Amino acid sequence: MTFLDYAPAPESTSILNLKPSYGLFIGGKFVDSSGSTFDTISPSTEKKITTVSHATEDDVDRAVKAARAAYDKTWSKLSGSERGKYLFRIARIIQERSRELAVAETLDNGKPIRETRDVDLPLVAAWFFYYAGWADKLEYAGLGPNPQALGVAAQIVPWNFPLLMLAWKIAPALAAGNTVVLKPAETTPLTALLFAEICQQAGLPDGVVNIITGAGAAGAALVSHPGINKLAFTGSTPVGRQIASTLAGTGTKVTLELGGKGANIIFDDAAIDQAIEGIVSGIFFNQGHVCCAGSRLLVQENIHDDVVHRLQKRLSTLRLGDPLDKNTDIGAVNSKVQLERITELVGSGEGEGATRWTSACAIPEKGFWFAPTVFTDVHTSHRIAREEIFGPVLSVMTFRTPEEAVAKANNTPYGLSAGIWTEKASRMLAIADKLRAGVIWANTFNKFDPASPFGGYQESGYGREGGRHGLAAYLSPSDQKAGGK
Ligand code: NAP
Ligand code: MG
Repeated sequence: MTFLDYAPAPESTSILNLKPSYGLFIGGKFVDSSGSTFDTISPSTEKKITTVSHATEDDVDRAVKAARAAYDKTWSKLSGSERGKYLFRIARIIQERSRELAVAETLDNGKPIRETRDVDLPLVAAWFFYYAGWADKLEYAGLGPNPQALGVAAQIVPWNFPLLMLAWKIAPALAAGNTVVLKPAETTPLTALLFAEICQQAGLPDGVVNIITGAGAAGAALVSHPGINKLAFTGSTPVGRQIASTLAGTGTKVTLELGGKGANIIFDDAAIDQAIEGIVSGIFFNQGHVCCAGSRLLVQENIHDDVVHRLQKRLSTLRLGDPLDKNTDIGAVNSKVQLERITELVGSGEGEGATRWTSACAIPEKGFWFAPTVFTDVHTSHRIAREEIFGPVLSVMTFRTPEEAVAKANNTPYGLSAGIWTEKASRMLAIADKLRAGVIWANTFNKFDPASPFGGYQESGYGREGGRHGLAAYLSPSDQKAGGK
């Protein structure tokens, strides 16, 4: 029953001043690619936003050479405090242009404006401010006196947090004194191209940041380019595995941030209404396109029915639709391909005997959408309990004892995140100690801070981003020669 309906509250797109087409950003300028072009579309309307370029192997080579020249001639010659000034300037411009960037991200990715405006953009600015502060303090990064930059960092990011993942990569790399070549995902190149404009606006020396757009092939060309000193990748485990094997034995330093299948554990003494909010933000934030999503809910058996009932009631109030509407909770799935993946895995859940519940919300005619879905009667052997769905789909399982909760939570090839809900602090600490996950939240979920390292175990990858650890990933001790290639 609807008591009150919301009036539409659309965010205007008039603040966006997009060009009809974008080239590649190499050596401080937008240049034509030597390959073809493609349209980036809005997943909520399937309408074209603008035209972007496919980088070829030659373009990748040009970009790596531009980054090398910038490293040799300018960036490596600047003091840490000078580099820091550029990063502070970029951070401030991001804040100034945050509404425009939020609108662009929502258009290109499909996620709600409420999230891009209130989560993505504030975190993007925070990441640049945080690492700007580190640029002149590298001797405190834990690598001894006078640590050295690595040289040219190649960086590849996915489509779920396009600008935020760019910030996680570019901010520490530049603070540490590296230059970069970054490839955004094929379906979400827009904010990286706007970021290129911000680099120009900040007067960043030419070639310190290079942005090459394109598909997986451009990423693969970047990975195998002999001129890179560091490869930082966020994306799927299969591509991460391929990258690790390409770079094995080359001496290139590698950081891999891959997939996850996080457990969110609810004990019977937890504050249930707060836990419900945590479950919702754990798996329905960003349509569930979150590597550290709490996609496996482990509920103590005696409160299972109550939790599931309250959760379904809460999910029925979530508003799915136009991501530019400020009241929207669930936006569009980023691409048709991703929607097909989610649909296939949900079908497997039904086929394997789990019980499906899906919110009865209306689905827009155009675009790619998936309504919030909860599976109960899930067995640990089901595909929906083991594989990353990367969509708004929760698999609920039960446990009786803390030992069983830990065993089930750790029963995964991944190990990126976990959540614990209990009023008992001693239990919180004891359980956290036994969970094999890089990030563990207690009585909250999906909270990010630039000072806090983030990363995984096992098939979730290796290396850490964020904090001092994230900085160390772009440095080597002073006794190791840096920058050559
Ligand atoms: P993906 O297919 O691995 O793509 C990630 C990036 O790699 C994209 O820019 C992609 O380009 C590029 N790429 C594709 N094939 C490549 C190749 N052979 N060599 C080099 N680069 C290549 O992943 P996705 O499906 O877009 O992203 C979702 C995955 O990312 C999920 O598994 C999620 O868990 C993970 N993720 C992890 C974290 C973390 O911090 N651990 C954060 C966010 C997401 P195209 O887009 O052009 O194909
Ligand atoms: Mg797009």
